[in-house]
Amino acid sequence: MNYPQIEINLKKVKENAMTLLEDCRRAGIESIFLVSKVLAGDKRVVESLMDVGFSHLADSRIENLIAFSRYQIPKILLRLPMISEAEVVVNYTDISLNSEMSVIQALNQEAKVQNKIHNIILMFDLGDLREGIFYQDDYLDLVGEVLTLSHIKLFGIGTNLTCYGGIIPTKENLSELIKIKNRIEDAFSIKLNIISGGNSSTLHLFPDIPEGINNLRIGEALFLGRETAYGKILPGMHSDCFILKAELIEVKDKPSYPIGIIGMDSFGNIPEIEDCGLMRRGILAIGKQDIILDNLFPLDDSYTIIGGSSDHLLVNLKKEYKVGDHLSFGINYPGLLQLMTSPYVKKKYF
Ligand SMILES: *Cc1c(COP(=O)(O)O)cnc(C)c1O
Repeated sequence: MNYPQIEINLKKVKENAMTLLEDCRRAGIESIFLVSKVLAGDKRVVESLMDVGFSHLADSRIENLIAFSRYQIPKILLRLPMISEAEVVVNYTDISLNSEMSVIQALNQEAKVQNKIHNIILMFDLGDLREGIFYQDDYLDLVGEVLTLSHIKLFGIGTNLTCYGGIIPTKENLSELIKIKNRIEDAFSIKLNIISGGNSSTLHLFPDIPEGINNLRIGEALFLGRETAYGKILPGMHSDCFILKAELIEVKDKPSYPIGIIGMDSFGNIPEIEDCGLMRRGILAIGKQDIILDNLFPLDDSYTIIGGSSDHLLVNLKKEYKVGDHLSFGINYPGLLQLMTSPYVKKKYF
């Protein structure tokens, strides 16, 4: 039961981490949060990155952070907390990202009960329109209220771009975050520790990060070696740290065009299939239950993806392959998340 299998090259991931941290240091970024959400709680990868120099371990799911609780590194919840999870958030994390007063109050209550100080980073929405206080709104009252809470510390502010609206980080929009920092610091005579200027999409600005941004939260660039504003591979980084291998369970010469009246496929769509005559068709034992097939990319041009269903991936074979052979695929970030989440996909570490 070794397939489908995701091959994880721990050495390459670690080299990416070292290159990334060095580039960030040069750009004047003081701390980098290791964003582990794509690993779906996988401990081997996180463990191999513990001594590289990330300041914090950040994940969007509290379950993953609980799985990582044995590692002595401060932990951050990236997704805005649910009020209903305030207790575990205070218990298992050092910092959470927030934008709602009612949630921050719930965290304060819980922190009081647990006799802890819980740190928060207030998120500001600079136009991407996912989470955060809208930057044009009046936010000083909310900040003032946060500062009165006995068991909450305002650790910093941050923004998230290129997630919903696809908005690219620029000097202009990131300078809005610096304005917010200055306004808060002046109004309340405080110093914010962290000014978090985004995720892997901010790396395209390197080395010209606006003065004042001192932190980034990085996932995709670390694991897939690319910035995410334009999708370019970063200099000196590996893009092949993760490779999927799946096994052929059928190889037969068949027509490329189905025979009979075409209705719906197994996912309820009407298939559009091109007739290219007879072809050698292979079936791999992996399917849409494990990964959306658009997220897979053949690593060899001797096979192409034709389609698939929940448990089957159909390929057009242009070389002699036999049942039992294994074919390799590159994976994008959403695909990696799906594969890491599927209990049916085995992991092999190098
Ligand atoms: C996922 C996420 C990140 C990391 O994004 P990458 O593109 O993987 O670097 C950073 N911040 C927040 C809030 C996130 O949800």
